[in-house]
Amino acid sequence: MQDDQDKYSIWLKEVSHIPDILNLTRKIAEYEEEYFSDLTLNNFVELCDYDDQTDTLSLFGYPQWTVYIIPDEDPDLDGYSAGLCNYDKETGDYRITISESHKNEITTILHEMIHAYAFVIEDSNPIAGQLLSIHLYDKLYSKIPNLKDILYLIGNRDLRELTFNSSHGTTLFLLKSFDLDLRLGLPLGSVLAYGKSERIQGLIEQIKTTGETKIKLVWERMPG
Ligand SMILES: [Zn+2]
Repeated sequence: MQDDQDKYSIWLKEVSHIPDILNLTRKIAEYEEEYFSDLTLNNFVELCDYDDQTDTLSLFGYPQWTVYIIPDEDPDLDGYSAGLCNYDKETGDYRITISESHKNEITTILHEMIHAYAFVIEDSNPIAGQLLSIHLYDKLYSKIPNLKDILYLIGNRDLRELTFNSSHGTTLFLLKSFDLDLRLGLPLGSVLAYGKSERIQGLIEQIKTTGETKIKLVWERMPG
C-alpha cells in the first residue's frame, strides 16, 4: 500500500502543472458525485458488513486513481479506443487514460469510470456487484423496452468484435452504461461506444427483429 501511495504522490507531482490533467481529474470528481453514488457502495456498508476499507469506494480514496491524457495515435489505444482503464493490484497501477481528442467527452470519461468501479467492485466486493446489477435492472426495466433481450448483447459476437473488450460484457457494465445514457438524454449505447452509438443501435435493432426469435427460444427453454 505504501508503494501505491508513492505512485500516487509521484503522479500528483508530475501533473500538478498540467491544466488539462487537473481539469480532467476535476471532471471525474464531479461525475463521481453526480452519476456514481450507487457504485461508490455507500448504501452497502451496513448490508455487506465487510471489514474492508473498500466498503465505500471512491476513485479518490483507496486505491487512489491516477489520470492521464495521451495522443490519439498512441499505440496503447490500438487505433480503436478513446480511453483506457488499468487496474493492477500487483503493480499498484490504477489509472484512467483518455485520448487527447476525447478529454472533454463526457461519454468517454464516464465509460472509463464504469470500468474503474467495476474492476474494484469485482475484486473487493463481488456480492455488492451482483446486488447493484439487480438494482439497476429494476430501475431500468420499465424505461427501456426489451431490456432483457438487449442484455443478450452480453453474448453477442458482433458486440465483442465492436468493442474488443470482454469487460463490457457484464450486466453491471451494460446496465450502468444504459443508466447513464438515459440520465444524459443520449441514445442507448452512447456511453458503451464512446458517443458513437450508431453501431450499437444497429445491434439493438437487429436484436429486436431477427435476433428476437433466438433470444425468445433461450428464455422459453429456461425451466419455470
Ligand atoms: Zn471500455
